[in-house]
Amino acid sequence: MRLRVAVVGAGPAGLSAALTLQDIGHDVVVYEKRPRVGGKCFSVPAHSMRADMGAIAVAPCSKVAGLAARMGRPLIEFNHDDHPSLARLDLEPVFRNSWELARVAVDLLRFEHHYRDWRRRDVRGEGAQLEDRVSLLEYLEMKKLSRLSPILRAFLSGYGYGFPETTPASYFLAYYDVPRPILLRIQKRCFTIDGGYDALWRDVAARLNVRLSSSVVSIIRGDPCIVETDLGTEKFDKIIFACPPDELKMCLDSSGEERDLLDRVNFVSYHSLAFEGRGLLGCCVHLPDWCRPEQAGRPMLWYRPRDADFCQTWSIAPPEMTKQTVERCIRDSATELGADIGVTISHRAWRYFPHFPLEASAAGARQQVRSWQGRRNGFFVGEIFSFASAEHVVGHAQALMHEFF
Ligand SMILES: Cc1cc2nc3c(=O)[nH]c(=O)nc-3n(C[C@H](O)[C@H](O)[C@H](O)COP(=O)(O)OP(=O)(O)OC[C@H]3O[C@@H](n4cnc5c(N)ncnc54)[C@H](O)[C@@H]3O)c2cc1C
Repeated sequence: MRLRVAVVGAGPAGLSAALTLQDIGHDVVVYEKRPRVGGKCFSVPAHSMRADMGAIAVAPCSKVAGLAARMGRPLIEFNHDDHPSLARLDLEPVFRNSWELARVAVDLLRFEHHYRDWRRRDVRGEGAQLEDRVSLLEYLEMKKLSRLSPILRAFLSGYGYGFPETTPASYFLAYYDVPRPILLRIQKRCFTIDGGYDALWRDVAARLNVRLSSSVVSIIRGDPCIVETDLGTEKFDKIIFACPPDELKMCLDSSGEERDLLDRVNFVSYHSLAFEGRGLLGCCVHLPDWCRPEQAGRPMLWYRPRDADFCQTWSIAPPEMTKQTVERCIRDSATELGADIGVTISHRAWRYFPHFPLEASAAGARQQVRSWQGRRNGFFVGEIFSFASAEHVVGHAQALMHEFF
């Protein structure tokens, strides 16, 4: 049966859900409150190039890479020198010492075993597990894998997913399929979207019925679902929620249980900064020593596109730290690394990585939100229903649409 479906939010999750539904043969309307699509995929002009201030990295053979191929949008290589995108600088001693390297390799294989075991239990839908009750750091200690902590720390914090001291281990395991091929040396290559990550979402949106600058202000799920925007009211058979949890809270006809869980979602204050300069480090570099709560504000990940005379850095800072302080901290750190810093091209502060803190995670919050699917004809995609990366939300949205429609 051909259904009329509304999608709230034109980020990667909403647009992937909408495209999948349209492919299946349904009528889809996407509502987007901003005048642009792409959500946290957002690029700005930087000299003759574009700097991605939101999502940037695409894994090969991933769902996003598949979508880019379908849209005819080329990928370009993220790493452009001989070094893999693996932690360097502070970790150089590890990689120079072959004995230590062998021990790390063995521990990675042991971690792989635990990851596969967790994945099996998670897919089976088992309730809150050890991995939901302890932080990543505690988990590594319990499994006698502490040698891995500087490397995993770089991959967790560098990409904005909090610090291993406080992030539940289950979040790292949910995300591990992205760094895994690089860490296990299955493949070293990583890509980005030519023309900026948001260009991909404009390509996808061009095939869909997207209403820009139309914010959904209230929703009544049921039969029919009633959607109220600032431009009027419409009826649909089904509705897909694809907006961040704090924005979802404002428009959803939530039950007590839904409201309670949405209230417990935490965010990380994640900064992305692009600046001009000379003597800038090349390629993609992780800076694990600065991936620590006490170093908050320092850059943790650093990237210079091929032949560019600008650089991009990412940093987690406490929410109370001002943009000026973070910027000063990043600039001082870049100078320490030997760079001669010029003007700032762009600085964005994001409310990032919506996640349940340890206490809620231990009580089964991650598993509980999964049971919301299909309630009163409402479906949920996006970061708290999968994981905070474009790769994960796209894969999850596509799979969910095929499962229920
Ligand atoms: C600095 C940074 C770096 C990142 N790096 C990577 C990376 O390298 N690789 C990767 O895979 N991912 C990365 N990510 C994560 C990735 O961008 C997000 O996980 C992804 O964008 C989430 O998609 P989404 O559709 O769930 O949500 P969003 O992208 O947040 O989109 C939600 C959309 O809903 C809209 N909306 C909200 N409320 C309403 C409403 N009431 N009515 C209508 N519309 C509404 C918003 O305007 C927005 O467009 C990064 C993110 C940031 C911020």
